[in-house]
Amino acid sequence: MVASYTQLLARRYTGKLDEDADEFIGFAVDGARRMQELINDLLTYSRVGTRALQLETVDSNRLVDRVVSDLGAAISDSQAEVTRDDLPTLRGDPTQLRQLFQNLIANGIKFHRPEESARVHVSAVLEHATWTFSVSDNGIGIEPQYQERIFALFQRLHTRADYPGTGIGLAICKKIVERHGGQIRVNSAPGHGTTFEFTLPVVRAEMRTV
Ligand code: ADP
Repeated sequence: MVASYTQLLARRYTGKLDEDADEFIGFAVDGARRMQELINDLLTYSRVGTRALQLETVDSNRLVDRVVSDLGAAISDSQAEVTRDDLPTLRGDPTQLRQLFQNLIANGIKFHRPEESARVHVSAVLEHATWTFSVSDNGIGIEPQYQERIFALFQRLHTRADYPGTGIGLAICKKIVERHGGQIRVNSAPGHGTTFEFTLPVVRAEMRTV
């Protein structure tokens, strides 16, 4: 309601009152939009923790391809390139795993260096009955002292004006990975890109096929 009515005010009255009014309506529209974004992200975060996992056999190639197609507009707007190796099929909750890839790939695109377009690559290796997935980018990187903190709710290293966001995406990723019995970590050097690595255990039914 708040978002719709402030948008209606903007459509009907921008340019008809004074300059201050235009500015105030603009702030209200922007605030309502951000509040909606925040509520949606918090709901996703909460559902990831409460909803029972719907375990299925999931082809991660298809998940990543789907995410790349969903992010089509962001990818073409920023002339990004997202590539992947041949990825495994495993057991997991397809909705949550898709969300995981979506957040990591979208961050790889978003946090690119101004002078170079984003390149994001997804790969996976199998070791000791565990898949380790990597999502690597050539972006701005993260200072070592912040590398733990970014997985907590609302922790962001930049202003919204530099890079938009709510600071909830990586907290969602951590929760998804941990609910699947894995771990997530980051390797990064400022100016030299970032690699997020997460593990997913190979479950018995699937071990026969690998
Ligand atoms: P948001 O993207 O909404 O800011 P996230 O929880 O996804 O929130 O990320 C938290 C913070 O971690 C980001 O604000 C950014 O500072 C840092 N970050 C996440 N991914 C990357 C990345 N690929 N490269 C550089 N910094 C990143």
